[in-house]
Amino acid sequence: MASIPTYKNYIGGHWVVSRSGETFENRNPADERELIGLFQRSNAADVDDAVEAAARAFPEWSHRPAPKRAELLYRLGEILRRLKDPFARDMTREMGKVLKETGGDVQEAIDTAYYAAGEGRRLFGQTVPAELPDKFAMSVRSPVGVAALVTPWNFPMAIPSWKLLPALLCGNTVVLKPATDTPLSSVNFVKACEEAGVPAGVVNLVTGSGSAVGTPLIEHAQVRVVSFTGSTEVGRDVNRSCAQTFKRVSLEMGGKNVQIVLADADLDLALEGALWGSFGTTGQRCTATSRLVLERGIARAFTERFVARARALRVGPGLDPSSEMGPLVNRAQRERVLDYVEVGKKEGAKLLSGGNTLDGGELRHGAFMEPTVFGDVTPSMRLAREEIFGPVASLISVADLDEALAVANDTAYGLSASIYTRDVNKAFHAMRELDTGIVYVNAPTIGAEVQLPFGGTKQTGNGHREAGSQVLDLYTEWKSVYVDFSGRLQRAQIDTEAES
Ligand code: NAD
Repeated sequence: MASIPTYKNYIGGHWVVSRSGETFENRNPADERELIGLFQRSNAADVDDAVEAAARAFPEWSHRPAPKRAELLYRLGEILRRLKDPFARDMTREMGKVLKETGGDVQEAIDTAYYAAGEGRRLFGQTVPAELPDKFAMSVRSPVGVAALVTPWNFPMAIPSWKLLPALLCGNTVVLKPATDTPLSSVNFVKACEEAGVPAGVVNLVTGSGSAVGTPLIEHAQVRVVSFTGSTEVGRDVNRSCAQTFKRVSLEMGGKNVQIVLADADLDLALEGALWGSFGTTGQRCTATSRLVLERGIARAFTERFVARARALRVGPGLDPSSEMGPLVNRAQRERVLDYVEVGKKEGAKLLSGGNTLDGGELRHGAFMEPTVFGDVTPSMRLAREEIFGPVASLISVADLDEALAVANDTAYGLSASIYTRDVNKAFHAMRELDTGIVYVNAPTIGAEVQLPFGGTKQTGNGHREAGSQVLDLYTEWKSVYVDFSGRLQRAQIDTEAES
């Protein structure tokens, strides 16, 4: 039997085993016979070690000038570029999405590295006029401290990079806890940080479960800021826990994203967008198109074409270049999605295609299922309300734009929405009315770029944003600085009119 690699935690600049002495397995969801490696089943003692290492590294790192920190991030971008192909292959092996998408995931980390590097010579504050003579007023950003980063499995390098790179740029030190389905991509990412010359203790990695590692990490007294991406259910607990110690916390959570297709739309374009949005990453994107809201005039024709194309999608291992859709991340996730298929049937929605596992030939070793389309969905059905996180699209017909917008907004979530129309007035109206953090016009619900803020309204987020320059607000404290060069006591906040 080929030897199975064992991967370690990265704490204080060293690759170390867990104090638990235990490991867990990471298997390929396209072929569960393949054991990718053993990873540390860490515990609270490992978390203590990592947070302490991060706290020790903070003074030196936070005092290093931001442009110098940024140079290091630029170097990291170059390293990621060099290693993009092997990192993408590892990612496909551990979580299933097709190679083009895992290449895109690594590319997102590269883009984030270059963007963060550029920000090192900006990190703008403000200078504003002071109200008293011979006085100077300005604001500057200071790092917050040790940041805890808790990440999901669906974007195994992109999401850690969205958190880690701006955190480092701003002068914080970090402890990263990746999802148990995708620890290898985080190991790869942290190895690249090490090669780039990130000093010991500035980046720490602890693998293991949410309860054994995530909870002690976010509860740790020395952690000052928490950035979490994952389900709304867990996010609620994270929020509650951070409230106890008034930690700053950013939550990026679930979605129930919508693509609206109006009768005047370019239907070919809308069709391509709907397929990519619904079945890209096997529907396991926080921005996946889960609801298709169709104006009645085109609903029938669009549905027929959409169903035909969904049936024709080639499902297979992500490493096979002919595959268009890979497996789900594991069998438990597939069971969850299949349960929703049953819920949909019971609720009276019409199963137009798919709904089954794919178990023929080699696919029987993986967590594959058919791209699934439900018609006759109504907004009150669970199919239309709950995040499914799998390759299931629900089709809802509406009379006009107003009804489309009402249906689109009738959800607990608010991440991404898209509208296909050729009417500029309708497009702008929808841009204003859609209650989501991201809106696309004539483009699918997926496809964010790193230079704009990313996040959602309602139960998708708690008001923070990742990416763009907005993310800097999470990882910095604002400090207002007044310099009085008058040489005398000048009293602000005194009613000078009353005095004279
Ligand atoms: P999850 O909530 O199960 O887990 C996310 C992370 O939290 C994992 O690392 C997990 O180990 C950890 N965790 C679990 N319980 C914890 C606890 N009690 N304390 C601390 N950490 C804990 O989510 P998932 O299944 O990995 O990812 C899928 C979810 O993520 C979906 O809901 C999806 O919409 C969401 N997501 C959101 C965004 C976004 O930006 N809005 C992006 C990607 C994924």
